[in-house]
Amino acid sequence: MNQQKRHELFRRLREINPNPTTELEYNSPFELLVAVILSAQATDVGVNKATRRLFKVANTPEKLLALGEEGLKEYIKTIGLFNTKAKNLIKTAQILLEKHNGEVPQDREALEALPGVGRKTANVVLNTAFGEPTIAVDTHIFRVSNRTGLAKGSTPLAVEKKLLQVVPPEFRKDAHHWLILHGRYVCKARTPNCAECVIRDLCDYKDKTGQPFTTATKRSSGKKNATHKKEARTLSRKQPRQKKHQ
Ligand code: SF4
Repeated sequence: MNQQKRHELFRRLREINPNPTTELEYNSPFELLVAVILSAQATDVGVNKATRRLFKVANTPEKLLALGEEGLKEYIKTIGLFNTKAKNLIKTAQILLEKHNGEVPQDREALEALPGVGRKTANVVLNTAFGEPTIAVDTHIFRVSNRTGLAKGSTPLAVEKKLLQVVPPEFRKDAHHWLILHGRYVCKARTPNCAECVIRDLCDYKDKTGQPFTTATKRSSGKKNATHKKEARTLSRKQPRQKKHQ
């Protein structure tokens, strides 16, 4: 994929979703950090269900420590790996209080030093809580980047480095969310919905599903817009209302 196509790809994703954000619900960097730690190998829907209750009683490091590991488990026991996550969250709350005045640090090294926080989680927090142009490569971004030819790589880190090189600066801050949403709802793992994909004609994937975009376009000059609208509708239907951290 050349640079002109990459620009057009993001221009279209922005057109259908001008203000993308995470599907995790949060009201502060600490809530976001907790939600992202909980979301490893779990769905955002499942995490939101748990955190809606949890954040009512513990939405600061102090309150989480007061709740204690066993108390915390009661709120997150529906989420996979909850025992390990509870341990990590309690330790994280302790470190935040001891070393960072109870605040989430805006610093990659300090974030990655927290239990349960790896590069991907640090990238999500830096991007979503602090507005930094980082790109966290999860399973969806890894797949979409490789399939489309946007940024090929055999590991998440290789794809992240390539994306940081090739994503035009104007799209870098939101690239992470556009690609995740595209992978989650359109370019799905098992069967990508190529027939309704707004970037079909830009994508290098050899095994596209459905009617070729060009044929559909020839049949009706309005088809391209209709397809854009359909994907936009799909995304807005599936994305819940976001709580935003100010
Ligand atoms: S055309 Fe298909 S493979 Fe390519 S990005 Fe769209 S859904 Fe994914």
